[in-house]
Amino acid sequence: MTVEQQYLLLPGPTPVPASVLRAMNKPMINHRGPEFRELMAEVTDGVKKIYQTKNDLVIFPAAGTGAMEAAIVNFISPGDKVLAISIGVFGDRFAKIAAEFGADVQKLDFPWGQQADPDVVSNVISRDKEKRIKAVLVTHNETSTGVVNDIKAISESIGDHPAIIIVDAVSGLGAMELPTDEWGLDVVVSGSQKAFMLPPGLSFMSVSPRALETSKNCKNHKYYWDLESALKYLQKGQTPYTPALSLFFGLQEALRLLLEEGLDNVIKRHRYCRDLVRAGIKAMGLTPMADDAIASCSLTSVLAPEGIGANTIRRMLWERFEVVVAGGQQRLDDVIFRIGHLGFVRPLDLLASLAALEIVLYENGFPIKIGEGITKVQELFIKKEEA
Ligand SMILES: *Cc1c(COP(=O)(O)O)cnc(C)c1O
Repeated sequence: MTVEQQYLLLPGPTPVPASVLRAMNKPMINHRGPEFRELMAEVTDGVKKIYQTKNDLVIFPAAGTGAMEAAIVNFISPGDKVLAISIGVFGDRFAKIAAEFGADVQKLDFPWGQQADPDVVSNVISRDKEKRIKAVLVTHNETSTGVVNDIKAISESIGDHPAIIIVDAVSGLGAMELPTDEWGLDVVVSGSQKAFMLPPGLSFMSVSPRALETSKNCKNHKYYWDLESALKYLQKGQTPYTPALSLFFGLQEALRLLLEEGLDNVIKRHRYCRDLVRAGIKAMGLTPMADDAIASCSLTSVLAPEGIGANTIRRMLWERFEVVVAGGQQRLDDVIFRIGHLGFVRPLDLLASLAALEIVLYENGFPIKIGEGITKVQELFIKKEEA
């Protein structure tokens, strides 16, 4: 049997609402004509609302990593010193991209499963008396571990040092608080296939006036990612190269849904889903990788019980129940599995998937009383009704 409607619990791609799918199912239009001009203005404005920013914002037809590369080549010149904070795979990726484009990267690593410590960042920054650090790279939500960084504190720790802060918010924006302007974030990148409830293929980059100045003196190689040309075309209601039109149609509808729900409620919904999942797995006797205080609202990483590999659990969830969860990356392969609760995920789907997980654990000899985990989740459902 091929299944069209899976329980897709990945930290991207995430499920796409039916109205968004329908919106994408439209004939093409002239991408240099008046209809697109209007569409482009509307979606750019809508994405800015999710970003909570008045800064410039450009949209690239690309995976999230494309926007990460754009965030390097437009603001960092070869030889520039860059402080790259990493708490996992995606922090490492940002550092790698910067190094590939000639930056002098100072890596600041924290143990996987923990947050970056703003005091350590503050220390490094305050020791840089000659102001050689040009940019600080940081991940908002580290998707490989399920930990959210304290971006507000990290931004504050830079203080009046002139370094710009560049944030990879691909899996966090729209799921957790990240008010771009209020927190003084110079460059923020995100992508369509996470909280935006769209298929993969679009990525976004906001640029503060300060970062825009930096970009004017930036000497790195770029063509496709050139910010200056993207902004020039944006003024005309166009993109420099052919836009992913169908995804723009989808984005218009996804933004309509998100803004109708209201950003505060969207964030609350993600928090609720996180709390359901964490309550469920803890009641089953499983351990989340991240502590409560630093737990992501986008996904939950779960340590596989001893003797049962994470990939066995994932395979059985998929084969028996069409439940899709992500595996661990790199050294976390087979050690953890990651339950996405990002974007258009319905709480009842989480309950069903957790019920499936209980069965899989039981069948692998894990000491569990069937129903114990999901009872806790059901109790939270009831509490919410009463609230
Ligand atoms: C998903 C993700 C990306 C981008 O991944 P792509 O596969 O390039 O879309 C970047 N950073 C984080 C934190 C992510 O979760």
